[in-house]
Amino acid sequence: MDLDSRTMATSLYHDSFENSQPTALGPPAYDGENLHRPSPSPTVQVGGPAGLTELLTPEFELQTIVISTAFNPETHETEPDIIFSSSDCVLFYVDTQTITRTSPNAFQELISAFHYGGAENDTPAGLRTIIPISESSVVLNIILHSLYASPCTQHSPPFRALVEAVYNMPLYGISPGTHITRTTYLYAALLAYAPIYPLVLYTLAGQHKIHDLAVATSSHLLSCSFFSITDEMAERMGSIYLKRLLELHLGRFNSLKELVLSPPPPHLPTKDCSLIDQKGLTRAWALVSAYLVWDARADLSTHNMKLAFSALTKDVTCKECNNCLEYKLQEVIMKWASVKRTI
Ligand SMILES: [Zn+2]
Repeated sequence: MDLDSRTMATSLYHDSFENSQPTALGPPAYDGENLHRPSPSPTVQVGGPAGLTELLTPEFELQTIVISTAFNPETHETEPDIIFSSSDCVLFYVDTQTITRTSPNAFQELISAFHYGGAENDTPAGLRTIIPISESSVVLNIILHSLYASPCTQHSPPFRALVEAVYNMPLYGISPGTHITRTTYLYAALLAYAPIYPLVLYTLAGQHKIHDLAVATSSHLLSCSFFSITDEMAERMGSIYLKRLLELHLGRFNSLKELVLSPPPPHLPTKDCSLIDQKGLTRAWALVSAYLVWDARADLSTHNMKLAFSALTKDVTCKECNNCLEYKLQEVIMKWASVKRTI
């Protein structure tokens, strides 16, 4: 092998996200069953923290090798003892004690296979062996940041990469639920996308039983049509979380009906407004209520509710009737605002 002819960026601590070009949203390639575990070999060997010194496998020839900015030999206080290589040839220097602190099985199958394969024993002094990981650098970066309990949002990873990282965590012995809690960076990064991709996020949370994330996401699903839930999504999120979402919508529909179907109470008859006169307001209220219930949406805002009923005040000339209407409207809006918005 002509070592001089290789293309290597030995000292470039390259941002590993530049090559990421997420396309469309959708379920990640990992289907939860067909796990294509990356082989622990072949490996390449590189030198110590000073940089790459030698490449031993042909497939790495003519490829630019870059090193993660976040996981290079000098990033962390703990000395890295292993190097992962992403599918797009970005190197990540990591410390096994750190990555197994919260996830004892993290990458252990790959590391063990590597050890039992004797590759480490054959490694010349001063050289390190690289374990290839079948993930893009963007996805691997998210997984490692999660294990290190550090934020992965510095380079704004796309939603698709975040989802793929979570779905693929079990491939490497990592439980997503352990690393996605209300206090973790990954939880915050995922939840930031809830207003845009609530259904995908809820599906992910349901599949991995990440309850807090499912609850927080569910408030963004009030406008979700159940027709938009595909069979695959329903299967992934599971019957429990599908049922909870259904109960959320039905519960809000029922609350809306209870709130608006009773009209404003009548006031005592006066010489200008008898009980018969007041039936006009009752009928008008019933019409608006029927419209709201017929078009019932779990995401009906208090603003729109107020707009619908406020139109009635234009035709009511009796001051007492107007007071009753105002009182009823305020009561309905206040109660509707307090109806549960999450599973
Ligand atoms: Zn009146």
